Amino acid sequence: MKILIADKFEAAGIEGLKKLGADVVCEPELQDETLTRRVADFAPAILIVRSTKVKADTLAASPSLKLVIRAGSGYDTIDVANATQRGIKVSNCPGMNAVAVAELVFGLLLAADRRIPDNVADLRAHRWNKKEYSKARGLKDTTLGIVGVGRIGTEVAKRALAFDMHVRYYDILPDLRPVDHPDCRPAGLDEIFQTCDYITLHVPGTGDTRHLVNAARLALLQPHAVLVNTSRASVIDEAALVVALKEKRLRAACVDVYENEPAADAKTITSPLADLPNVYGTHHIGASTDQAQSAVAEETVRIVAEFQQTGKVRNCVNP
Ligand code: NAD
Repeated sequence: MKILIADKFEAAGIEGLKKLGADVVCEPELQDETLTRRVADFAPAILIVRSTKVKADTLAASPSLKLVIRAGSGYDTIDVANATQRGIKVSNCPGMNAVAVAELVFGLLLAADRRIPDNVADLRAHRWNKKEYSKARGLKDTTLGIVGVGRIGTEVAKRALAFDMHVRYYDILPDLRPVDHPDCRPAGLDEIFQTCDYITLHVPGTGDTRHLVNAARLALLQPHAVLVNTSRASVIDEAALVVALKEKRLRAACVDVYENEPAADAKTITSPLADLPNVYGTHHIGASTDQAQSAVAEETVRIVAEFQQTGKVRNCVNP
């Protein structure tokens, strides 16, 4: 079985795939036309990607292609509708990076409350400003609103309760109960925006969630509120967020994902969010811990092994 990996991938994962007897090629620099040409030449049965986009041309490049695996959880970078039309299965590795993203959310919440990045920037410039940075509220007894309580949202809820925060959550599936705790309760989406001190987004990037956070919803926020987005950029109307941040209608935004996000190997970012002092932004690193990447690689090997042995596709998103 031929497998093409068109992204960086854990060495242990490549070894695991080879142990299954597969002919494995890992070429992380492939994208767009080069990826399409390589799929046509090599004729893999399985294509494995992380952030590399898989478009219709690539899916059409070889009739050998049976399965595309997204070595991560979100699969909005793959043209799933086109894959379905062609009978190509698509699967992902849900939950393997949930803890890593939840940990980043808490890094961002604490960074915003204590203004840790500003502290560090001043310290590196040999400026001392204890008076200014001594003003912080603390997370205890504040309310965290979680939008989307799937795998990541649930890990965030658990950690918020450990920080003695009150948790309110909204999910399109009304019966989801992320944690059995009296202070972890469902709430309406607008109610979360109106009442929570911190709001964190954990929904997938789909047509339904596009601009879920628009100008009208941003207008509901309290001026001290902090909005965290480690899900997908499309979930927020970024232009409306920039206006709201400039007008100080919220205290800060913590973001890991951006509209027109640069490629993984790019050296600059042009996002308007990068110009704002009340944005604490990271470089789309939510899933990028060794622990998460090892777990994703192991799950990818499990998907391939099961497919090889039974023809069934574990975590298939287009059954
Ligand atoms: P998940 O599928 O386990 O959970 C998503 C939840 O969102 C589900 O409970 C679902 O019912 C809910 N949902 C869907 N549409 C909704 C809507 N319109 N309104 C309210 N709730 C809705 O996914 P997950 O593993 O928790 O990941 C969530 C997202 O996080 C992924 O889709 C991905 O885009 C993003 N992510 C980002 C990084 C990163 O590096 N920053 C890493 C991993 C995942």
